[in-house]
Amino acid sequence: MCKKKSSKSALHEVEGIKSPSSVSDNSIINIKLKRSEQPSENVFIEKILAGDISYLSRAITLIESTNPKHQEKANVIIEQCLPFANKLVRIGITGVPGVGKSTFIEVFGKYFTEKGKKVAVLAIDPSSSINKGSIMGDKTRMEKLVKDSNAYVRPSPSGESLGGVAQKTRETIILCEAAGFDVILIETVGVGQSEIAVHSMVDFFLLLKLAGAGDELQGIKRGIIEMADAIVINKADQDNVKKANLAKAEFSRALHLYPLKESNWQPQVTTCSAFFNEKIDAVYKIIADYLSLTKSNGYFEKRRNEQNSYWLLETINQQLKNNFYNKPLVKETLKNYLKDIQKLKTTPFNAAKELLKLA
Ligand code: GDP
Repeated sequence: MCKKKSSKSALHEVEGIKSPSSVSDNSIINIKLKRSEQPSENVFIEKILAGDISYLSRAITLIESTNPKHQEKANVIIEQCLPFANKLVRIGITGVPGVGKSTFIEVFGKYFTEKGKKVAVLAIDPSSSINKGSIMGDKTRMEKLVKDSNAYVRPSPSGESLGGVAQKTRETIILCEAAGFDVILIETVGVGQSEIAVHSMVDFFLLLKLAGAGDELQGIKRGIIEMADAIVINKADQDNVKKANLAKAEFSRALHLYPLKESNWQPQVTTCSAFFNEKIDAVYKIIADYLSLTKSNGYFEKRRNEQNSYWLLETINQQLKNNFYNKPLVKETLKNYLKDIQKLKTTPFNAAKELLKLA
């Protein structure tokens, strides 16, 4: 595959949309916003509702900005867009690096755009918060999709905690929905917490796996299997077809051992080849079946309501934590207590009790 040096971000934006080279670089954002006259909230809302991608992109930049004025403006835009959201399907896609996520998202995204649907691709990449880069590095990802006028690919905001990134992604979803996208694909790397964050904001959670990695049953984390609505064994092509089918049978057997989900959905297993664009329709069919079941039995709506409650509480928790840890007295006292517990002068529990009195 062709490789091209590019931005640090895991994903590239739709061609033609000017965006900062790194969304964490606030100086660039500020200069850009200052230079071009900042439109009013109403203009933003009107343009987003009309499906204007460049305004959508600018509004997402406001969401990602750390400037309180930008955040205030973003909040007004989000609130006004909210009644127009909630119509599209949100699909989460996870899997370890190398399993073929970007290859899969590219063909899967194209599958929708070829049907005349509009697709947005967002990412939650915890590595970009830690390293201000991405473990996916310099690869040019989803080249075809970024050139597709019915697709919008937005890189993961970097330089933020996972909680911060997740909240911004939730807000970005609302704007994408208001802008008339039919499907949102949210990608994350298969490393722990980020999967929980993605799971809590999608309707359908898809786990990509490889056959013959020696971990068919034992190596995969139980939590992820429990979250998955479908397991898709990728790279089922060439010499790998037999192994992929065996893995499919094993995963299916394993999944049947789990109790039926609250949605009444029996998670499905299938194989596909993202690279050769084979059996992508089988994945689509599973998702369509899931949606038809959960929309008719009320689970779809229930889950979205639960997710909204979860995010309300999560945002409060996040805010309380930030307020607490940002207090100068807490910072100073915490430092002292950390030394004290190392010297066994006090217990962590006692230190926590004393610190919380400063809240
Ligand atoms: P990611 O790190 O999960 O996003 O994985 P990529 O999409 O970058 O894919 C990693 C490598 O696997 C690349 O070299 C792809 O060309 C290759 N790959 C992805 N999907 C398939 C597939 O279905 N079959 C085969 N044979 N290779 C694939």
